Amino acid sequence: MKQQREGLLLVVSGPAGVGKGTLDKALMDRNSKIKMSVSTTTRAPRPGEIEGVHYFFKTEEEFKAMVDRGEFLEYMHVFGSNYYGTPRSFVEQQLSHGFDVILEIDVQGAMKVKQAFPNAVLIFITAPSMSEIKSRLIGRGTETMEQVEKRFATAFEEVKMIPHYDYVIVNDVVDVAVHRMEAILEAERCRVSRSSELLESIQDIEGGK
Ligand code: 5GP
Repeated sequence: MKQQREGLLLVVSGPAGVGKGTLDKALMDRNSKIKMSVSTTTRAPRPGEIEGVHYFFKTEEEFKAMVDRGEFLEYMHVFGSNYYGTPRSFVEQQLSHGFDVILEIDVQGAMKVKQAFPNAVLIFITAPSMSEIKSRLIGRGTETMEQVEKRFATAFEEVKMIPHYDYVIVNDVVDVAVHRMEAILEAERCRVSRSSELLESIQDIEGGK
């Protein structure tokens, strides 16, 4: 029996407030073969956030026990106090079943994933300028001014990492940005390095009769 094609591992990063979540959700709504990994975090839920949908919310103790059991693909201590991690089993299962999986994670996590999975596709989502990033953060209205300042300083460091990504998308008009993500996925699926099965069947003299 032919082995199923493994899914693409898509890493999406970008400063807080640039609309990564909106783009990822729109991409999934349009493509049933794309799944989103739900991360585990020790930060408190924001209003409207649902356990198992936005995050799996854990205490620091629970999180550290998961680390000890090797349950994370990668994990990170972000913004000084909170832990965030990507549960390994879901991602590996979905990829092996041929689903593409999106990880919406920070830049340090993205670099770790790239090391562990050199075939992962890294996309950086940004606003057109730092001042626009700041006003989107303030406009979101979910953080105190102190938290906004902290996240803005982080954003400044994050954009410096863009050269380590495969693609960069400015999220100005959502539809355009989602279309660009789809274009990237389409192109990546056609990479020769991902098409060994196709190459074999093209060269199969007996096949295609
Ligand atoms: P937020 O608290 O706004 O939901 O997320 C803060 C940051 O943590 C964002 O940059 C987000 O992408 C990142 N993040 C969320 N989940 C993970 C994860 O599992 N691993 C890593 N490394 N970063 C994550």
